[in-house]
Amino acid sequence: MCVCGLENCKIASVFHEPIKSRLELVEHATERILERVGAMADIPTRLVLSEAIANAIIHGNQEDLNKKVQICGGLEDGNRLVLVITDEGAGFDPALIPDPLCDQNLFRPHGRGVFLMQHLMDQAEFRLGGRQVVLRKRLGGDSA
Ligand SMILES: [Zn+2]
Repeated sequence: MCVCGLENCKIASVFHEPIKSRLELVEHATERILERVGAMADIPTRLVLSEAIANAIIHGNQEDLNKKVQICGGLEDGNRLVLVITDEGAGFDPALIPDPLCDQNLFRPHGRGVFLMQHLMDQAEFRLGGRQVVLRKRLGGDSA
């Protein structure tokens, strides 16, 4: 069983990929994952995924090289992307994240990442005490 729990779901192109807590791996991992699910052209999804992985590395695992970030996902119902990013950190309370709409919070990177997830994806849900985020986005059809 993987920590993502996706084994219980009907998902196509499913993948389970651990990466080390190194920021220089974020971009490559993001490209590789989106290539795998055929979502290369979706800029907002690419931005959100790289933010989510970076958050997991920085705020979750505190860049501890002994800890990994587990990135899993696939396609539900044909064209809905589901991504599950899990870190090995202490977790956090999503309600305590500062809202970047307040200008004094704009440059707090953690708040900004969560804001992007919640506004650019169809759904962003935190689980496991904040150690895991589940992102969903219907692909194709709408804006470019
Ligand atoms: Zn998994």
